[in-house]
Amino acid sequence: MRCPCNSGEDFQGCCAKYLGGNSDGTVAYPPTAEALMRSRYTAFAVGDTSYLLRTWHPDTRPAELELDPDQQWYLLEILSTSRGGYFDDDGVVGFRASYRSAANRKLRDSLTETSSFIRQGKQWLYVDALEIH
Ligand SMILES: [Zn+2]
Repeated sequence: MRCPCNSGEDFQGCCAKYLGGNSDGTVAYPPTAEALMRSRYTAFAVGDTSYLLRTWHPDTRPAELELDPDQQWYLLEILSTSRGGYFDDDGVVGFRASYRSAANRKLRDSLTETSSFIRQGKQWLYVDALEIH
């Protein structure tokens, strides 16, 4: 299966190792803010709320998270990135995420957001949305 984040990679070779850890039990960390953003989009697409919560900064993380099962995320486009690289501790990623209704696949909409991220040790964390369109 292709990775839901639209990287063009196989799911196992892309976001799966972040969501579920490696098959040998070790945990892999997305190396950049964009990679974390992509893995969180994938978590939305596959309904992995525990990954979403553990990659959310504790200061802004909701106590619990329920995803709308009618929302099918089908496309991620990265629009911009600023910092968020291997040697940065913070970064900003702009993206557009598109979804459709499971009940009526003709109903489609998208979310365009500019998100901020910080890195704590090896782990990039989502902080909040700077802008939502
Ligand atoms: Zn991916």
